[in-house]
Amino acid sequence: QPFLGIESSCDETAAALLDGNGRILAEAVFSQTESHARFGGVVPEIAARAHLGRLPPLVRGVLREAGVEPRDLAGVAATAGPGLIGGLVVGATFAKGLALGAGIPFLGINHLEAHALTARLPGLFPEPPAFPYLLLLLSGGHCQCVAVHGLGRYERLGTTLDDAVGEAFDKSAKLMGLPWPGGPHLERLAAEGDARAVSLPRPMLGREGCDFSFSGLKTAVAQAVSRGHRHADIAAAFQASVAAVLADRARRAHSMLPGATALVVAGGVAANRAVRAALEAATPLRLLAPPVRLCTDNAVMVAWAGLERFRAGQRDAVALAPRPRWPMAELQPPAG
Ligand code: ATP
Ligand code: MG
Ligand code: FE
Repeated sequence: QPFLGIESSCDETAAALLDGNGRILAEAVFSQTESHARFGGVVPEIAARAHLGRLPPLVRGVLREAGVEPRDLAGVAATAGPGLIGGLVVGATFAKGLALGAGIPFLGINHLEAHALTARLPGLFPEPPAFPYLLLLLSGGHCQCVAVHGLGRYERLGTTLDDAVGEAFDKSAKLMGLPWPGGPHLERLAAEGDARAVSLPRPMLGREGCDFSFSGLKTAVAQAVSRGHRHADIAAAFQASVAAVLADRARRAHSMLPGATALVVAGGVAANRAVRAALEAATPLRLLAPPVRLCTDNAVMVAWAGLERFRAGQRDAVALAPRPRWPMAELQPPAG
């Protein structure tokens, strides 16, 4: 029986339909990037309104594409946090309404858990990672290293002390006059530069544990820009610094979880080729990088996390309130 997932925690409105085995039947994402670009970041009010307008047609679209009626669904899962409260309320309320109207179960899913479980999606990799595995979550809003011990069993090994890594890409790109979001632009610019032409710090390199820090690197980029270095060289040096730091943190993480079966990456920064190459070389672990559309915010991952929990017996009350802050470590295995 098909299972529906809904994502609306940040600036992507998304819906996806899986079959009972977790195979993708239909998926759709509406990215609001254009609406926010001229403000240089996500504007919560604009995001909430866009979710409200876009979500109903997106859900209708994936249902129609798969020829599925709401009453045919095994259940519906929506992101219930962490994220921007307006979008969370829109997505969760829509899912609850659908659940009540069609007489099907509702599940509220943690967005970070959804990123963490994506690599287990059937058919994605020849062999899905077995527990425990390491997750590096590298997005615009999150920068964490997590030990994934099991469904609902997450241990945060490290997090950023200041900026998220995607945020560092975006802020540094902005200093070089690149459009928002700057990550992909910075990667393109870096390809034309010489990383050795500019010396930038590599924060936390060699430090105990698995924490990150990127604000000093961003400040150094600002100084390099004002000193008149070629932007392409700065971009290349910045990217090399980030890649080296992430590789170092991945090695630390592996030493903290020696029994890990794989290193899984998620978040938009996982699209960066220099980052991927550095992580590939950092540890002897198998690096599992889902396709970019499943690394950035999407509803397939929400549907899949929902389906894993649904199969384990979880059902949530429609009274469940979305949580703008919801650390992964607070999650529990499904009680079923
Ligand atoms: P959240 O943190 O809530 O998951 P988000 O929208 O900030 O949401 P994503 O959509 O996963 O995160 O990723 C967007 C981030 O990834 C942006 O900071 C963007 O610049 C960065 N990014 C995307 N492509 C690349 C790339 N090729 N190189 C570096 N950074 C990239
Ligand atoms: Mg996004
Ligand atoms: Fe995300």
